[in-house]
Amino acid sequence: MTSDIPFIRPTFPEPAEFAAEYAEIIENNWFSNFGPKEQQFRRALEKYVGHDVHAATFGNGTLALMAAVQACLGHGRPGQRLLMPSFTFVAVAQAAIWNGYQPLFIDVDADTWQPSIDSAREALARHGDEVAGVLLTNAFGVGNPQIDAWEALAGERGLPLVIDSAAGFGSRYVDGAPVGSRGTCEIFSFHATKPFAVGEGGALVSRDPEVVRRVTEFQNFGFDASRASVMLGLNGKLSEFGAAVGLRQLPGLDDRLASRQRVFARYVAELADEGLQFQHNAASSSLCFASVTCVDTDHKQRVLSQLESDGVQARDYYNPPIHRHPYFADVPALTTSMDLSVTSDLCARIVSLPVHDRMPDAQVERVIRGARVGTRR
Ligand SMILES: *Cc1c(COP(=O)(O)O)cnc(C)c1O
Repeated sequence: MTSDIPFIRPTFPEPAEFAAEYAEIIENNWFSNFGPKEQQFRRALEKYVGHDVHAATFGNGTLALMAAVQACLGHGRPGQRLLMPSFTFVAVAQAAIWNGYQPLFIDVDADTWQPSIDSAREALARHGDEVAGVLLTNAFGVGNPQIDAWEALAGERGLPLVIDSAAGFGSRYVDGAPVGSRGTCEIFSFHATKPFAVGEGGALVSRDPEVVRRVTEFQNFGFDASRASVMLGLNGKLSEFGAAVGLRQLPGLDDRLASRQRVFARYVAELADEGLQFQHNAASSSLCFASVTCVDTDHKQRVLSQLESDGVQARDYYNPPIHRHPYFADVPALTTSMDLSVTSDLCARIVSLPVHDRMPDAQVERVIRGARVGTRR
């Protein structure tokens, strides 16, 4: 049966809104290169996150992550590594490798599914000389409940803390501070699959204007103000079209996120007694989807196949974890001696349920019913 409840259902600006933007772009005679729309969008992002952050926009989240590593750490020397979880999207390891660093994969915390600070301490004890920085990921865009401890650890060790909050624009940390306001910098993706989407786009935000100045040079061929190429850069710019879509998406964002949070609250209310566990602090996140852990692999397979036969598209992010993708599995230097058993266990039990903006009640019911029937055999 084909799914009539898709995993992702993006929200687009109305055709008339986009037509108005398009007319203005033509009027401005400006396609790209930090034009009026990009400048306006960048200021709007800074205002949304608050906390005096500075922002740079990007053509996608992966470029923002590459720029973050380059600006915070420079290019890696042979043997230098970045701490990161394997339980995340492959772009995290790719951004490190393109900058000359090897990943050092750490395990995740069994309760929060976030990178484990104990695993990081162990990695530092064993490989401390090789570690140049930390690529912390906010798993599924959910603010890490232990962000204070991570900032303290990075501070103690003098390591830059680059935070990948790709799906988390609009999420909050447990103290209520917006995701985007912590670490050396944070990056976002505005990909079609994220709750705040422009199609292809991304941003980096930091309280340090110097970091933002460097990433802006990086994404513009390494050019400084006099158009001299002063660093190894590339083209990472967001077009005026992407910025214009972002400007139209931003005003309604909080309402849309609130509607997603109401869907999540129903999932929790109706499924938490069925042996399904939800992620800590997900309730105050932008909820790209709602992940749950099942009791065991069998349970997971039953839930997934029941949902599929009910026409509900579900997934199991991030399975496989990065180190089990062929490219990473086949490069012996990239594999690590760190214990990743919590990652493996989580991948064996995780199911990701769809969450849409303003999801109709009948669809929410169907997701709940499918997950419940799968649970009860
Ligand atoms: C989506 C995502 C990215 C990549 O963002 P793009 O905009 O698709 O390049 C990077 N990291 C994580 C954790 C993601 O979820």
